[in-house]
Amino acid sequence: MSSFKTLDDLGDITGKVALVRVDLNLPMKGGSATDVTRVEAVKPTILELCEKGAKVLLLAHFGRPKGQRHSTMSTSFVQGDVEEVLGKEIMFIPEVMGPVVEQSIGILSAGDIGLLDNVRFWPGEEANDPEFAKGIAAHGDFYVNDAFSAAHRAHASTEGLAHHLPAYAGRAMEAELKALDAALGSPEQPVAAVVGGAKVSTKLDVLENLVGKVQHLIIGGGMANTFLAARGVDVGKSLCEHDLTDTANRIIDQADHAGCTVHLPYDVVVAKEFAANPPSMRICNVHEVSSDEMILDVGPQAVEALGDVLKTCRTLVWNGPMGAFETEPFDTATVALAKTAAALTEGGSLTSVAGGGDTVAALAHAGVKDDFTFVSTAGGAFLEWMEGKALPGVAALMA
Ligand code: ADP
Ligand code: MG
Repeated sequence: MSSFKTLDDLGDITGKVALVRVDLNLPMKGGSATDVTRVEAVKPTILELCEKGAKVLLLAHFGRPKGQRHSTMSTSFVQGDVEEVLGKEIMFIPEVMGPVVEQSIGILSAGDIGLLDNVRFWPGEEANDPEFAKGIAAHGDFYVNDAFSAAHRAHASTEGLAHHLPAYAGRAMEAELKALDAALGSPEQPVAAVVGGAKVSTKLDVLENLVGKVQHLIIGGGMANTFLAARGVDVGKSLCEHDLTDTANRIIDQADHAGCTVHLPYDVVVAKEFAANPPSMRICNVHEVSSDEMILDVGPQAVEALGDVLKTCRTLVWNGPMGAFETEPFDTATVALAKTAAALTEGGSLTSVAGGGDTVAALAHAGVKDDFTFVSTAGGAFLEWMEGKALPGVAALMA
């Protein structure tokens, strides 16, 4: 991995102004956040900068105001939640540049925190306007990016600022980049990738990138049906993208050429209706699915075999559940494989990295979220990274 600077590379920053990009786009209900995970994630960076005596200016977006001030999308709405998590009072500053920001910096003491308003109120943010970035940068001595989840966007606060100030990765960004590098950048081999979820079409780029990088590609979830159909299996009423069978076959060919073994389920859990514990549910071989049945989970024999594959691997990267895990008992394969991965991780033989909205929910449901080496909550940025794309916010830190 080409290198980036971290907070360890900062010299004496007493009284210096740190512009810190964080993710404060919290899910809200009735005026307060329903989940403060994103604030917890950036807390170490913020407090470390405070302890080192910087004046910390937090820079974030909140909602999609599309370049205009919007009374319901001010970052002041999350001020209380941020103060609570940090255990510190912060000063809300209703601008991102100009005299109000300058005066506020004058009032802040070393170790204090200011919260700038929603950076997406200004069109220069999403346009990554260099003049806009320069205007913000004029207030800071250095820039810290601790928002990996926004790193797939080339915006002024996520990318542009790095060209105008000395740039550093915050602690959350640093941890994320190290984990992702350990998973796909320079992983210990053999590497297994689990790719599941609903559709092949949303993860084509992920699959194409992975076949060239991993030794085992484990395909589950709804997308396995498309691959099975491509292999001539009658998948009945299953969720299946029949128009993508050629694509699926091409990916299998690419895998063959690259020496990557593709694992498809050979037994499955099927039902005639999609409901919890439906009476029509049964386990069968993939060749025995009848025309009125749907495949809703990977079967027990396949799960056991996949567990054995993981036992031979040193690294696992996982995106997408193995079945329709929100509905019992179609969470069985996902939970079982997640527990196997967690146990191997705890035993020290496996480095396990997972990400994706539903994947994080599934691992939490399995009770193993904290047992993986790293679980990314970054959503879009995580998927783009799995697609092998350079993330502008990360690339700017490497420069
Ligand atoms: P992530 O958010 O982790 O990237 P996806 O959004 O791609 O994951 O996929 C998750 C969804 O896939 C879940 O809602 C799950 O119910 C669905 N799913 C998984 N397997 C099946 C299946 N066999 N049939 C229908 N839906 C499935
Ligand atoms: Mg999803």
